[in-house]
Amino acid sequence: MKKYLLPETGNFYKANLHAHSTISDGRLTPEELKAAYKAHGYSVLCVTDHELMVPHHELTDPDFLMMTGFEMSFNEEKSPERPYPATCHLCMVALDPDETLQPCWHREKYVDPEKRKLIRYDKNEPDFEREYSPECINEAIRICREKGFFVTYNHPVWSLERYPQYSKYEGMHAMEICNYSSVVSGWDEYNPTVYDDFLCQDKRLFPQGTDDNHNRQAPDHPRWDSFGAFIWIKAPALDYASIASALVKGDFYASQGPEIYGLWVEDGRLHVQCSPAVRIYCITRACACKAGYGENGAPATGAVFDLNPDDGYVRISVRDAAGNRADTRAFFPDELF
Ligand SMILES: [Zn+2]
Ligand SMILES: [Zn+2]
Repeated sequence: MKKYLLPETGNFYKANLHAHSTISDGRLTPEELKAAYKAHGYSVLCVTDHELMVPHHELTDPDFLMMTGFEMSFNEEKSPERPYPATCHLCMVALDPDETLQPCWHREKYVDPEKRKLIRYDKNEPDFEREYSPECINEAIRICREKGFFVTYNHPVWSLERYPQYSKYEGMHAMEICNYSSVVSGWDEYNPTVYDDFLCQDKRLFPQGTDDNHNRQAPDHPRWDSFGAFIWIKAPALDYASIASALVKGDFYASQGPEIYGLWVEDGRLHVQCSPAVRIYCITRACACKAGYGENGAPATGAVFDLNPDDGYVRISVRDAAGNRADTRAFFPDELF
């Protein structure tokens, strides 16, 4: 019997859940972002302006879903002991379309006074004070989850965060395995090792690809930062509840180009179907990684791997001829056997 790791039924919807508009430091308006992403085959966009959660439901149409979210930052102070200060950025995506109150707000800090009037918040809640510490960051993650937000840990490379810091973070739903804006700006923001670091702590989070686009350059410029990293969500329909539910279940994979059409377990073997690949990686917790190839030098469009419960988690990564990758989430033995 087949056990499907990506749902057997439903449709794939292309999504970017990290984008900036003119509401914060992006160059395109939410309307222009929607038009650009829709024209490039996307079905879902979440405009996550810095510290400003502004719903854009008026831009949702039968073929395009706008989700509501914002990006939150925790900045380390520069000091003689810390000459290279780090930062932690998190994207919060509301799982309920009617969620319009911004969590973890502050009456005076973090938001430009002119823009503060755009925020709706719970006036009975005390100010949320921030500091760059795992305790404070974990508290924000906890509060946002409790209030129904999908929490993603953003661009660890750009943020200068290293294992001793990020290994203390708890409770995120996902992390950016690729952040395209960082990539085109010069950071090597493809982070499979950071993802494995979390998985080896038994933190079952999902990999995300996002643009984090600001669109400061023209579309034909090499630093244009849209359409480079995304997720493909498999869901029964393109409505807010179906997409939100698929996100929480991890029914999606991250990509910079390659596509994964099918992923299932049958008779103790993992089956993958994908777009033409030069290599299909089967990455495990144990020292048991494997690679799948096409026959006689032809590209591979699928692979089958033997599974062993002693190998810990398993995840698939597909590499195409251009070097782009598609990454599934990790599946743990209790999900596979
Ligand atoms: Zn950021
Ligand atoms: Zn951002």
